[in-house]
Amino acid sequence: CPWFAARGCLRSDRLSSQGITILGSTGSIGVSTLDVLARHPDTYHVVALSGHSNVMRLAEQCRQHGAKYAVISDAAKAGELKKAMDQIKCTSEILAGKDALRTVAGMDETEVVMAAIVGAAGLEPTLHAVQAGKRLLLANKESMVIAGELFRKAAAEHSSVIIPVDSEHNALFQVLPGHFNDGLESAGVEQLILTASGGPFLHRTREELKNITPTQACNHPNWDMGRKISVDSATLMNKGLEVIEARWLFNARPDQIDVLVHPQSIVHSMVAYRDGSVLAQLGMPDMRTPIAHALSWPERIEAGVKRLNLAEVHKLEFYPPDLDSFPGLGLAFQVLEAGGNAPVIFNAANEVAVDAFLQERIEFLQIPTVVSAALEACETGKLNGLDEVLEFDRLARAETSRIINMKKVS
Ligand code: NAD
Ligand code: MG
Repeated sequence: CPWFAARGCLRSDRLSSQGITILGSTGSIGVSTLDVLARHPDTYHVVALSGHSNVMRLAEQCRQHGAKYAVISDAAKAGELKKAMDQIKCTSEILAGKDALRTVAGMDETEVVMAAIVGAAGLEPTLHAVQAGKRLLLANKESMVIAGELFRKAAAEHSSVIIPVDSEHNALFQVLPGHFNDGLESAGVEQLILTASGGPFLHRTREELKNITPTQACNHPNWDMGRKISVDSATLMNKGLEVIEARWLFNARPDQIDVLVHPQSIVHSMVAYRDGSVLAQLGMPDMRTPIAHALSWPERIEAGVKRLNLAEVHKLEFYPPDLDSFPGLGLAFQVLEAGGNAPVIFNAANEVAVDAFLQERIEFLQIPTVVSAALEACETGKLNGLDEVLEFDRLARAETSRIINMKKVS
């Protein structure tokens, strides 16, 4: 099965440099990816970069990295991008709109796609990259959460290799044996243990989570990330999404996935084997490590990351997650058991709720309550194909907005 092609068969004994397209280059993962690429100018070149609203940053990135195409996914901003590019004498060709993302993800010049758009907005171009047989570096976890089955099928059909960039899943990928895709059990795996930092509100009670502001929620102790994933980390919804992501990436049953809170974010995840061995991947909390690993696998390249010195870290702690203060994680396990369209509703409702929280329209503690209400209100059922994913996503967003507007949650 080419889902994760047999290890060792992809050695890059190649002389020409690889063409990379970054979907969402203006975000946190996009910026880190460009930082790694700039360290290896002979090995990689940039084909296309995309951004949604930050035209100045997109223009600067295109000029600095010599991108052939500059994609502005919000077509209304194309004029603004043109002006910004003219100002700095950037000559990349401008493409605009959602379809342009698919175009650059699937074009011949692109060999590798970094999927770094946030949310379900990344689904179509990311899936298209797989259908076009590209090597996919997957940061955009929401796509895998809502359409995991479609990704598995497309990767097998089109010989696409998907390498996880999410630090936990990249860690699991590093410590799993090459034949894990034949089944975790036959590979001797008992459990995938995802670590969670616990976010900025670790050890707080529900009472202490009242009146949390967006600024406080986005102030993560270990990681510097986009606002949506920062809030998800604070609610532990991020870990919930990652549990579902792991189910699809590693073909795992829900009972084979566990979560352990590890505040230092040094152990990025672990695999527990039948013989009692537990294998972990460790490193500094810096996304350039999993990005560099995904880019160069099965080889290793310099990532510009500070080396881990355990003598300086002193202690590594582990705790069970507090599902009382952070009910979003428990909800994710229920959604995983329910299957079908439940993950689509879960993800869409969370995206809408996080947005409402960032706009100070709902409170921090209401995020999981809104998601739970949306799961109850929306009809659950089977999921067949991309059109249905998109339709359930649309319906769940509308229902969640209605729930928020009617202030139907406490
Ligand atoms: P970010 O908010 O910093 O960047 C998001 C990118 O997506 C930007 O380039 C933005 O222009 C683009 N974008 C936003 N809305 C869009 C839309 N409607 N259409 C097209 N493009 C759009 O987010 P991030 O922190 O870089 O995260 C990106 C993805 O990677 C997320 O799925 C996140 O869960 C995942 N991830 C991030 C980290 C991290 O450390 N930042 C770690 C693991 C996984
Ligand atoms: Mg993660």
